[in-house]
Amino acid sequence: MASFERAPDTGIHVIIVGTGFAGLTAAIECYRKGHSVLVLESFKERLPLGDVISFGPNSGRIFRRWPGMDEELDLITWNTEDLLIKSWKGETLLKQSWGANEKEYGKNYNGHRGNIHEAIFEYAVKIGIDIRLGHKVMDYFETDREAGVVANGERFVADVVLAGDGVRSLGRTIVLGHEDKPKSSGYALYRAWFDATPLKEDPDLSWMFKKGEGLCAWIGPEVHFIAATTKNGRDLSWVCTHLDDADVEESWMAHAPLSNARKYLAGWDPVIHRILDVTPDPLIDWKLVYRDPLPTWISPKKRTALIGDAAHPFLPTSIQGASQAMEDGATLAVCLSRSGKGKIQEALQVFEALRYERVRAAQKTGETTRDTWHKADWAEVKKNPESMKLKREEWLLNFDAEVYAEKNYDATAALLDDPAAGRELNLPKITEISASA
Ligand SMILES: Cc1cc2nc3c(=O)[nH]c(=O)nc-3n(C[C@H](O)[C@H](O)[C@H](O)COP(=O)(O)OP(=O)(O)OC[C@H]3O[C@@H](n4cnc5c(N)ncnc54)[C@H](O)[C@@H]3O)c2cc1C
Repeated sequence: MASFERAPDTGIHVIIVGTGFAGLTAAIECYRKGHSVLVLESFKERLPLGDVISFGPNSGRIFRRWPGMDEELDLITWNTEDLLIKSWKGETLLKQSWGANEKEYGKNYNGHRGNIHEAIFEYAVKIGIDIRLGHKVMDYFETDREAGVVANGERFVADVVLAGDGVRSLGRTIVLGHEDKPKSSGYALYRAWFDATPLKEDPDLSWMFKKGEGLCAWIGPEVHFIAATTKNGRDLSWVCTHLDDADVEESWMAHAPLSNARKYLAGWDPVIHRILDVTPDPLIDWKLVYRDPLPTWISPKKRTALIGDAAHPFLPTSIQGASQAMEDGATLAVCLSRSGKGKIQEALQVFEALRYERVRAAQKTGETTRDTWHKADWAEVKKNPESMKLKREEWLLNFDAEVYAEKNYDATAALLDDPAAGRELNLPKITEISASA
C-alpha cells in the first residue's frame, strides 16, 4: 500500500460508533487530518453482508484521497455508465449513457457491499486505526468539556463522539431523545445475488455479459426490477421494488420465498422469469422505511453528532445512501481541523449547517425517481421515453465534500451566533453548487 500521509497531531480525540461506510470514512478522514481515533463496533467479527451497493463520483473522490484505495477497488468494483431501460413487457424505451457527459465528475464504484466493506475495513486497520469489534455501545454521555460512550461495561471518553450506528441508531434515541418511529413507505425490495453462468447463453441476456457489466431496468406500474451483471460477468444481482403493506420490521437479513417475487412480476417480460428460474430461493426481503427528518443531528451539549443512516436514512432509488454517509465523515474531519480542540461545539454546528440541506435535497431524489418510474403515464412515456431517464444531477454528483467544507467553514462559523441566519446560513443554493463552487 502506498504510504498514507497524516496531518500533524491536532490533539483531538474522536470516538466513532459503528464500522459502516459512515463510521469507516469518518475514521479514515479524521485520522488523515491528524485527529486520534477509536472505533467501536458491535459485530464480533467482520462479515461480508449485503449485496450490490453504489458509490457516486461524489464519494469516489473521497476514496481516491486514500493512497492505494482506487487500485484495490478497481479489482472488486465496476463503473457502469450505461443503463438500458425497458417497459415491464420487455419493450426497449431507451439506452441512457452518462460516461461521456460526466468525465469531470470522476469515477463511480459499484460492487458487492461485503467486498467493498472488507477492502475499506482492512485499509483502516492497515493504516493503524484502532477498531474494536465486539463492543456494542449501550450508553452515551457528555459534559461541556467531553463526550463518551459505555461499551462492555467500560467508559470511553473523548473530545467528540460520532454515532454512525445505522438506521436503528441507539445514538439517535439516547443523544437526541428521539423515539425511533419508522413508518412503512408502502414499498419493499426483494434482492438476490448469484452465479450467472446459466444465463450467459440466453439470447436476450447475452449482451449483459459482453463487457462483463450490463445494467438493465424494467419499469412497470408500482414495481421496478433492475438486473446487473458483476465481477466481469460472473455474477448477476437483481433488485425488485414493489408495493408492500406488511409491517415495518427492517432488516438486511430477513428472507422471503422466491414465489413472492413471481407474484409481483406475473405477466412481466419472460426474460425476467428466466432470471427468476435460476435465482436461489429464498430472497432477501428488505422493507423500505421512512423516518421524518430529524430536527438536528447534534446533541444538546454539541459534543456528539449522528452520521450516515443514523442521521439520515435514504431510499435506494436515490443511489446516494452510502455516498452521503461518506460525505459526512469527510466534512466532519475538516470541521474538527478548522475548529481545533478548543471549539469542538462550533465544529459540530458547522458540520450540521453544511450538510443538512444538501442531504435533504439528496434524499428527495430517491422519491422523485421512484415516483417517475412507478406512477408513469404510459401513454405519455410512449411519446417521450426520455422522461424515464435516471436523473444524474450535477450538484449532487460533481461535488467535493472536503473542498466545500474547507471553503465554507469560516463564513458558516461566523453566522452561528446570528439568530436571523437560521438553517440557510451561508449556503450557496445547494442544488447549484458543484465541485468547482
Ligand atoms: C448488514 C448490512 C448489509 C447492508 N447491505 C446493503 C446492500 O446490499 N446494499 C445497499 O445499498 N446498502 C446496504 N446496507 C446499508 C448501507 O451500507 C448503508 O445504508 C449506508 O452505507 C450508510 O452506512 P452507515 O455507516 O450509516 O450505516 P450501516 O452500514 O448500517 O453501519 C452501521 C454500523 O453500526 C454498527 N452498530 C449499530 N449499533 C451499534 C452499537 N450500539 N454499538 C456499536 N456498533 C453498532 C452496525 O453493526 C454497523 O456495522 C447494508 C447495511 C448493513 C448493516
